[in-house]
Amino acid sequence: MNEQKRVPLCDVQAQFRNLEADLSDAALRVLRSGQVIGGPEVASLEKEVARYCGAGFGIGCSSGSDALLLALAALDVGPGDEVILPTFTFFASAGAVCRLGARPVFVDIDPWTCNLDPMQLENKITGRTKAVMPVHLFGQCADMEPLWRITERHDLPIVEDAAQAIGSEYFGKRAGTLGAIGCFSFYPTKNLGACGDAGMIVTNDPEWAERMACLRNHGMEPRYHHKFMGWNARLDALQAALLRVKLPHLEKWSEARQAAAARYDALIDEHHLRHFLQKPTVRPQRRHVFNQYVVRVADGRRDALARHLKTEQIGYEIYYPIPLHLQECLAYLGHAEGDFPASEEAARSVLALPMYPELTADQQSRVIRTCADFLRGQVRLAA
Ligand SMILES: *Cc1c(COP(=O)(O)O)cnc(C)c1O
Repeated sequence: MNEQKRVPLCDVQAQFRNLEADLSDAALRVLRSGQVIGGPEVASLEKEVARYCGAGFGIGCSSGSDALLLALAALDVGPGDEVILPTFTFFASAGAVCRLGARPVFVDIDPWTCNLDPMQLENKITGRTKAVMPVHLFGQCADMEPLWRITERHDLPIVEDAAQAIGSEYFGKRAGTLGAIGCFSFYPTKNLGACGDAGMIVTNDPEWAERMACLRNHGMEPRYHHKFMGWNARLDALQAALLRVKLPHLEKWSEARQAAAARYDALIDEHHLRHFLQKPTVRPQRRHVFNQYVVRVADGRRDALARHLKTEQIGYEIYYPIPLHLQECLAYLGHAEGDFPASEEAARSVLALPMYPELTADQQSRVIRTCADFLRGQVRLAA
């Protein structure tokens, strides 16, 4: 096996190698302090992430999934309520709604950005709608302006699933501050990754902030007095300390991801692959932070190309092969194939290529050359 040839989809170890000394210092600091649940590391990270996003409050929690759960719970989402969200997203977006006994109501996507299509939102709103949850998929903010207009008209709060989009901007405003409550994941492969599970919620509303901080700790306030039905959804001090080492590097990493995305774009053009591999669309006035660089593979050849990449030891992933409305555990919602055609088409054609800040131009050349060899070979065969 030729180790030099292999290009991973993501390389979290590269980041660790560059920060090893600082990370081990931070970990030892926590271990020596004995304060391993909550405490100053968590409080400091909350302030630092809130400041980074331009939000008033940060509430650390155990994962991006729990961030969504806490946000919806703070808005009193419960049985009988509906939350509107795109069907083309990671399962956790809908999972949070269902865990509260509420009903996810799906909307199709804009095929260019794979983000919720705001044109389809308004006719999904009913008297039971409690919130709208756009997902800033792959690192680009959803089209918020029409969402603001519609949700304002119906007096509905927006909960942003910004799990993939920390540092992403919409007209200069950062993800997480584009609605009532913003939810982040620090899953290791996200742009700001912990060494395990972790998450963060940001908001400008002090009452919601307090409620979410209480809900993540069994709804307990003061000690052994339980005001709300909460959970254990706390952020570990160890994760907070490690994330505090990484946060100052996030801007540099986002820029490296953007540079890598620009190199992919140029390579796709250079190899005359535009009609075979559709590049990601970045809308004007967006800062796309490329948690993933996702192309669309034309003519039903996605799976064949993926197999070829696998034999060539090039990492890839399919985000996501099955839209949520077709998931087995959501069959009770009564959806069928054809209900959300843009999402179903995306599920058939998306392909995420290797993307991480340390990815080199040479590695990217190899990725696109490998795609070109395969796609062109197919063209010759077909001719
Ligand atoms: C990663 C992710 C989540 C869940 O975050 P976890 O920290 O893994 O629980 C939720 N929504 C989206 C869109 C994600 O990508």
